[in-house]
Amino acid sequence: MRTLGGIELSNHIKGLVCRECGAVYPQKLIFSCEKCFAPLEVQYNFDDIHVTRDEISQRPKSIWRYKELLPLNDYESVVDLGTGLSTLHKAENLGKHLGLSNLYIKDDTVNPTNSFKDRPASVAISKAKEFGAVAVGCPSTGNLAASVAAHAAKAGLPCYIFIPSNTELNKVLQASVYGARIVAVDGTYDQANRLAAQVAQEYGWAFANINLRSYYVEGSKTLAFEVCEQLGWEAPDSIVVPLGSGALFCAIKRGFDQFKRAGLIEDKPTRLYGAQGEGSAPIVDAFKAGWDDILPIEYPDTVAKSLAIGDPGDGYYVLKHLRETGGAAEDVSNHEILDAIKLVAETEGVFTEPAGGVTVAVLKKLAEAGHFKPDEKVVCAVTGSGFKATDTIQNVLVSPPVIKPTLSSFKEQKEASTW
Ligand SMILES: *Cc1c(COP(=O)(O)O)cnc(C)c1O
Ligand SMILES: [Zn+2]
Repeated sequence: MRTLGGIELSNHIKGLVCRECGAVYPQKLIFSCEKCFAPLEVQYNFDDIHVTRDEISQRPKSIWRYKELLPLNDYESVVDLGTGLSTLHKAENLGKHLGLSNLYIKDDTVNPTNSFKDRPASVAISKAKEFGAVAVGCPSTGNLAASVAAHAAKAGLPCYIFIPSNTELNKVLQASVYGARIVAVDGTYDQANRLAAQVAQEYGWAFANINLRSYYVEGSKTLAFEVCEQLGWEAPDSIVVPLGSGALFCAIKRGFDQFKRAGLIEDKPTRLYGAQGEGSAPIVDAFKAGWDDILPIEYPDTVAKSLAIGDPGDGYYVLKHLRETGGAAEDVSNHEILDAIKLVAETEGVFTEPAGGVTVAVLKKLAEAGHFKPDEKVVCAVTGSGFKATDTIQNVLVSPPVIKPTLSSFKEQKEASTW
């Protein structure tokens, strides 16, 4: 365990508070508000948080550099694989293509298990360790499985991953290699999710997105912290975020708000834009229809499988933030998603899974519709690596021609093609 050293901060967390009825709870393993079942949020003691830009800049390059704004009391419990401070690319080439002179790509494919899920998983497994949990786990359709399994391995904790039995081989393989116990459930993701909740309850185990959820979601706001720090301690004018359950989107909003509250950035407005795949766009549909609530989709269908959630838990709050910040939401077809994967790879050298294809394609759509000023600072979040979804992506690439190992053979090929 690497030491994070520094200031004693036992007072920086007040406890958990219900988003709806305001009921307050001490820090513990808990599913949701016991009175109204709404989500619980970590409440910080901002009066006791005095960290400065300089102090943060000198700390290790991981999400734990923002420890005063993360929900851990005992920093000895931190489980850190080096997640965070992922590259913020100044996307000059893609920017030219879209008419944006200050476009940035936040590249979370470079995290330890190649997706942004390492952010919430690092916080969840650290918190499980602090609580003295004997086992950890999660239900997952993909990226979270690998992320929780890797952090459990580092923590030396047994790990139970609940996945639908038809989950793609790539994802099962990545989670398995870390030694997790993979429970393949003969049913849908929702059924696997419900079973995982029962198991967590029955055995008192700590599951990342179930009874650790309030802590877990805090990890994702570090993406917003980093963007501000990397832009020279300034929030962007707008940011395009993929929407699955909506948890990442809400965490990013909280991240900007808390950085302002802690005095680390100026109070500048940021417009938040949401991105989904057609066929799995309940939040976009509700936004466009002007509804306050989500109409769930029974069978979500998009190549962006990490975003294929028909009944997004945080959808209601996403709609509020979209409207309050003056942002918007758009969906894109499978074809547009796959084109965008190639576009961002060919212009910026970033290889994304379809979820990143969704944000890039939506960015393009929004730019064409005139949502951005040409010189404003726009950030596009790319949240997972293309290696997660090679089965989908290989369909749009042509196999390389095979030639004889001779110069004449190369010349022949060159003339016969557009090389
Ligand atoms: C989980 C996931 C998302 C969506 O996150 P939510 O918090 O569920 O909205 C986006 N991109 C990738 C790559 C993911 O794995
Ligand atoms: Zn409540």
